[in-house]
Amino acid sequence: MKVICVGRNYADHATELKNEIPTEPVLFMKPKNAVLVPEKPFYYPEFTDDLHYECEVVVKINKNGKFIGERHALKYFTEISLGIDFTARDLQREQQRKGLPWEIAKAFDDSAAIGYFNPLPADWDINNLSFELRKNGEMVQEGNTKDMIFKISKIISYASKFFTLNIGDLVFTGTPAGVGQVNVHDVLEGFLMGEKVLEVNVM
Ligand code: MG
Repeated sequence: MKVICVGRNYADHATELKNEIPTEPVLFMKPKNAVLVPEKPFYYPEFTDDLHYECEVVVKINKNGKFIGERHALKYFTEISLGIDFTARDLQREQQRKGLPWEIAKAFDDSAAIGYFNPLPADWDINNLSFELRKNGEMVQEGNTKDMIFKISKIISYASKFFTLNIGDLVFTGTPAGVGQVNVHDVLEGFLMGEKVLEVNVM
């Protein structure tokens, strides 16, 4: 399996990192070893001094597909959760400055923490889902999928032009504003439509 991620998908977050608003989805990938499943602790990596959380809505692909039309894209997943796209911001800035790839900053082991997946309820609108991240009990990020620059159907369709989507792949759909530092002993909790689906303990 693989993890497909979208960068800069909320205008307020693109602005906070002083990035331009993209005209096509900005995609990057994380390998299987990046996935941190629920109830496993996250160990603060030794190669960064500026680790950031990015809370994102995540969908789990349940059908293989390539060249998926936008109209059909929502049929390619049934389960949804939240995840943390852990980012070594210092390494990312350095790589960006040199025009080099991001993997060491974004695709390292355990950098894709995921919560519990639940079937998407029939009465939820995928394009109007609220979510929030609390750090040590305090709300630090608040988002709604209606504010995405590229909706989930567009992301799936666009990604499938380049990469065959396979059953079990995860799609991280971008983070809203409010990203910030993570430290040892922090507890991150993600709430989707008011329900807790994610907890990460930083060791
Ligand atoms: Mg992200």
